[in-house]
Amino acid sequence: MPVPLIFEESKPGRKGYTLPDLDVPFQEELIPNRFLRSKPPELPEVSEGMVVRHFVNLSVQNHHVDKGFYPLGSCTMKYNPKVNEKAALFPGFTDLHPLQPSATAQGALRLMRELGRALCEIVGLPAITLQPSAGAHGELTALLMIRAYHTHSGSPRRKVVIPDSAHGTNPASIISAGYETVKVKSDDYGLVDSEALEAALDDEVAAFMITNPNTLGIFECGIENIAKMVHDAGAMLYMDGANMNALMGIARPGDMGFDVVHLNLHKTFSTPHGGGGPGSGPVCVRAELTDFLPAPVVISDKKGYQSATPDKSIGHPGAACGNFGVMVKAYAYIRSLGAEGLKEVSENAVLNANYIKEKLKACYHLPYDRTCMHEVVFSGKKQKIKGVTTLDIAKRLLDYGFHPPTIYFPQVVEEAIMIEPTETESRETLDAFIAAMAEIAREAGESPDLLHTAPHHTPVRRLDEVSAARKPVLRWEMKC
Ligand SMILES: *Cc1c(COP(=O)(O)O)cnc(C)c1O
Repeated sequence: MPVPLIFEESKPGRKGYTLPDLDVPFQEELIPNRFLRSKPPELPEVSEGMVVRHFVNLSVQNHHVDKGFYPLGSCTMKYNPKVNEKAALFPGFTDLHPLQPSATAQGALRLMRELGRALCEIVGLPAITLQPSAGAHGELTALLMIRAYHTHSGSPRRKVVIPDSAHGTNPASIISAGYETVKVKSDDYGLVDSEALEAALDDEVAAFMITNPNTLGIFECGIENIAKMVHDAGAMLYMDGANMNALMGIARPGDMGFDVVHLNLHKTFSTPHGGGGPGSGPVCVRAELTDFLPAPVVISDKKGYQSATPDKSIGHPGAACGNFGVMVKAYAYIRSLGAEGLKEVSENAVLNANYIKEKLKACYHLPYDRTCMHEVVFSGKKQKIKGVTTLDIAKRLLDYGFHPPTIYFPQVVEEAIMIEPTETESRETLDAFIAAMAEIAREAGESPDLLHTAPHHTPVRRLDEVSAARKPVLRWEMKC
C-alpha cells in the first residue's frame, strides 16, 4: 500500500503537542504587523505518533544503505560510521558562522587545515581547496584552475581529452569550463589506447582527464607513460579521484604523475552519497597551480589559522568555506582509521569486488577478465540473447531485496552491469547477493517473463522512468 501524503492524513484540530497558554503579552513593535500572517499556514494537523509512523513508513518504502546492500557502481554506497555524524553535530561546529572572525574559529580552521594536509598526503600532491560541493563541482573548479594556469602562460588552449569510458560529469565539466571535448578509445584490455592518445595530443590540449582505476574498475597500468606523453604536450594530467577507495594508503596519484586530482568526500570519506544531501569535492594540485586555488584557503602563521586568498585565485566557486559538516566527518574518519586503517579499507574494497567477479563470471559475461580494483563490470549480453535486458535483471534484483548495480554505464560495455560492493560489506552479504544474481541468471533462461514484469514485491511496480524525468510532479495541490 502506498503511504498517503501527510496532508491527506490531516484532521482539523488534531495536534502533535500540548503547550501552556501564552502568557507573554504580544508587543506590536517586536514584530511589525506587515510581517505577520493574516491566516494560519496550511500545515498538516496530526498527532506526534502519526508523524513518527508516517516518516518511518516512508523510510522503509525506499531502499537505502542502512536497510540493505547497495552495490551501485562508481557511487561507493558504503556504510558510513554514525560516530562521524555525531562529531559533525557538536555545537562547537554547528553554531559557527562562516563570517565570524578567524580568531574565534581557530578550531574549525585548524580542522580544515589538517584535513587538507591529510588529503594531500593521501593523494601525493602539495596543495588543496576544500571549496567545491560535489565531484562535478570539483572537476569544474579544477578545469578553471587549469585554464587560468595556461592563460597565464600565454594561451588557455582549446581542448580537453578524455577516454571513451569517462564518467558523464567529465564532458559536462569540460564544456562548462569553455573547452571542447576530445574522446580517445579504450584498447582491448579496457585501458586507454596510447596510440589514440598520442594522436589526440597537441599544443591545443589543456589537459587529459582520466579516472584511475578507470570506470571499468581496471587500473591504468600505463599511467607513467601516459603522464610523460601528456606533459610532453605541455598539458596537465587530471585524475577524477571520486572513488579513492581502491588506492588509499596503497598508491598516490601524485606519484603516478597526476597534476590535479579531485576527491569525493561523500563517497570515500564517510558522508553518504546521494539523497540530495551536502557533498564535498576537494581538489588537490601540484605546486605550479597553488596560486590559482579558489579562495579562501586556510594558512597558519604567527596569528594562528587564517583564511587567505591566493595571488591569482580563480575566485569563489562556492559559498563561504564549502560544506564544513562534510569536512568534519571526513576528518573524524581519517583520524580514527589512521594510515593502516585507510590501507585496509582499500584492500577490502578491492578484495570484495574481485570476490564477486570470480563468483559471477560463470553466469554473466565478463568483458575484461582481469584483476579489478574497487568495482567490476559485467555485461548482460548472454541474457540479452534470451530476450532479457540488463534493465530487467536490475528490476528483478529489487525483489530479492538488493539495490541494483549501476546499469548501461560505462557505455563501452554492451548491456553493462557495474558492481561496486565496497569494503563495508560482510562475506555473508556478498554471498547472498551472488546467490540472487545467479538465481536471476537461471530465471532469465527458464522464465524470462518473470523478469520482464519485475519488480513484483516492491511498494510500486515498474515505473515510467521517462515520464518521471520529463514530466515530474513535484508539488501537491490541496483539494478544497
Ligand atoms: C560520482 C562520480 C563523479 C561525480 O561526483 P558528484 O559528486 O556526483 O558530482 C565523477 N566521477 C566519477 C568517476 C564518479 O564516480
